[in-house]
Amino acid sequence: MNNIISIKNVYKIYQMGQEKVSALQGVNLDIAEGAFCCLLGSSGSGKSTLLNMMAGLEKPSSGEIIIKGRHVEKMSEEKLALFRQKHIGFIFQAYNLLPTRTALENVEMPMIFQGKPRKIRQKMAADMLTAVGLGERLHHRPSQMSGGQQQRVGIARAFVSNPEIIFADEPTGNLDTKTTDEVMHLMTRIARANRQTLILVTHEPEIAGYMNQVVTIRDGCVESEKFNEITKINEPKDPNEVNETNEYAEMKGA
Ligand code: ADP
Ligand code: MG
Repeated sequence: MNNIISIKNVYKIYQMGQEKVSALQGVNLDIAEGAFCCLLGSSGSGKSTLLNMMAGLEKPSSGEIIIKGRHVEKMSEEKLALFRQKHIGFIFQAYNLLPTRTALENVEMPMIFQGKPRKIRQKMAADMLTAVGLGERLHHRPSQMSGGQQQRVGIARAFVSNPEIIFADEPTGNLDTKTTDEVMHLMTRIARANRQTLILVTHEPEIAGYMNQVVTIRDGCVESEKFNEITKINEPKDPNEVNETNEYAEMKGA
């Protein structure tokens, strides 16, 4: 299998006045095309720094970051911006939607930068919002939607132009357990259907069940790496229904 991302001996040192903060201390990591990878670790361990680096949002102090065969650490800001537009989608913990814009306009936003014609943009945004279950909410603003709905808009915005790699930093960090499951199922279902690579940061071990590569980060280093089968595949359903989720659990001997 091809690696879509390779991180080689990456260090990140932040200068804080007189003090130096070592956020990453020699990280090596390979992520295969189509992997669902999660970076798991406690607060302050360096997860977001590593994710931002892989998404080309920050430059390393030293080391190499190779995405789709390209050395990202050597690209100019302009090249990097274009590279991100073409290949990368990003989902944030706090959704980062524009508060004065509707769901439709928020999802259209990345396509404006890509120079897509208005009619096409609107059609793609509406289709994507319908696909994430917000077909009835196209003209709602963020303040008129729940957290889970706002994150669905965030997901639609990240996926709308079908980028090869989706990054998500604590995407369910502000959501309750039920909504977390819905959002995780949604993201992995779309990524699976389109054969996209999904890279996600979390401090919640339960999220690892959705992923097949679990990388534990500690003190700016990769502490361990595990490859496993994805256990959480079926959609959560109404518990009163007779459903395949139970059959699936029985099959697994749960
Ligand atoms: P996590 O996402 O795992 O909570 P971060 O990657 O955000 O951790 O942070 C790792 C370490 O780097 C922390 O000690 C944090 O304080 C420090 N750090 C992160 N970003 C900056 C920055 N822009 N300036 C200075 N220090 C930073
Ligand atoms: Mg973080």
